[in-house]
Amino acid sequence: MTEKCGVVGVSLEDRDAARPLYYSLYALQHRGQESAGIVTHDGFQQHSHVEMGLVGDAFGEGDVESLNGPVGIGHVRYPTAGSVNSCCAQPFSVSFKSGSLGLSHNGNLVNAEEIRDELAGLGHAFTSDGDTEVIAHDLARNLLEEDLVRAVKRTMERIHGSYSLTIMHDDTVLGVRDPQGNRPLCIGELDDGYILASESAAIDTLDGELVRDVEPGELIVLRSDGTGFDSYQLFDEDNTAHCFFEHVYFARPDSVIDEELVYEVRRELGRELWAESGVESDVVMPVPDSGRSFASGYAEAATDDGSDVEFAEGLMKNRYVGRTFIMPTQDERERAVRLKLNPIKSTVEGKSVTIIDDSIVRGTTSNQLVQLLKDVGAEEVHVRIGAPPIIAPCYMGIDMASRDELIAAGKSTDEIREKINADSLSYLSIDAVASALQSSRSDLCLGCVTGEYPYDIEGEATDREVTRPEISTESTIADD
Ligand code: AMP
Repeated sequence: MTEKCGVVGVSLEDRDAARPLYYSLYALQHRGQESAGIVTHDGFQQHSHVEMGLVGDAFGEGDVESLNGPVGIGHVRYPTAGSVNSCCAQPFSVSFKSGSLGLSHNGNLVNAEEIRDELAGLGHAFTSDGDTEVIAHDLARNLLEEDLVRAVKRTMERIHGSYSLTIMHDDTVLGVRDPQGNRPLCIGELDDGYILASESAAIDTLDGELVRDVEPGELIVLRSDGTGFDSYQLFDEDNTAHCFFEHVYFARPDSVIDEELVYEVRRELGRELWAESGVESDVVMPVPDSGRSFASGYAEAATDDGSDVEFAEGLMKNRYVGRTFIMPTQDERERAVRLKLNPIKSTVEGKSVTIIDDSIVRGTTSNQLVQLLKDVGAEEVHVRIGAPPIIAPCYMGIDMASRDELIAAGKSTDEIREKINADSLSYLSIDAVASALQSSRSDLCLGCVTGEYPYDIEGEATDREVTRPEISTESTIADD
């Protein structure tokens, strides 16, 4: 079970948090379309509304009004192939002896099963099979013995994997990023309070100011009167494991993640793509929407180099077609690409065309597009991809299909080119990705393009020294 989602938390001076939470979930809708939810606290009790569907469908006007209290957390959940699972909709909320807890999780733990088994052995009853409930139970247990910060630290010592969490304990909202900072999380200042969100676009939507990213291993506690926040750097690892695919595909281009504006990174990736494998053609066109910033960087670098390639929007997207990627059968996915994208014949006919996309996963989109463009008269179709070949699954929170479905697993670029029937195909190198992100390879999670992960995943290789935390019910926290 992977949790590929958007999370948010808000603490305000004396206004209900539900509406800002609702708007920020709208801003994070691209991170999850299966379910949406908000849990608030009014100083006495929690109020919760969690529904399946898009934010606009999950909440009616009365639902937002009924969520009282100046603090709260929210969540949008990403769907998994073929399954719509209401038991895993979030935020997860529960009342324990140690107080009420709400949890929103983006990421994926690699040792959730071990912790679940151990807690179940101690009498904890679970209502879902998701990671989030495991974290909630562990934290609730620690809260019986420790203060809030120590309890979170103790839970972080036990859980291993990727997580960006917003947590509400009674009327205090917290944000936590795993020690390697795999998934994003940032802090924003509003006129009358503070917000934690997966992406800064949510802060912009509320006319707030991005303060900064939450650091890997950092715990942020928003003061419940909305006047500020406190920071606790609980873990300090030598290396980070930021997910490069957030910048390539998942995040909004107008978000700033780990101090980089996603749009600028994508344009730089496009420029690098031209530098590494630019091909002369009559037109360059993006595969909308994800290929746009890459294609504009690519075309700009081409023009700087003296090429007279024309930049054109030659593929139109039907904006009412939802996500096709997760459709269960290949036949449906192929039909859906055709529903989603249509070429403008006059920009293509009789021309050599380069199409730019951010990634190839199963190959459905590029295969269909090359055929479509040839059907409407393109003389040559070249494909340029702004990421390296995806050869392995993602265990850290992004749906990448299984290894046997990945077109690049075990194939050379020329074999893939032949499969998608393109005249030429090039991907971007891993070094170019690291350079565009102004990072070193050892500070990125590159598992899906190298097959080596920064976490200890059963049956997979790792690219660094990692140790799984011991599962122990004893307190391991040092006095500090
Ligand atoms: P495919 O058609 O299977 O090769 O998938 C590639 C297309 O899906 C590209 O246009 C990407 O923009 C998009 N894409 C890549 N990764 C994902 C993902 N994890 N979820 C949804 N769409 C994706």
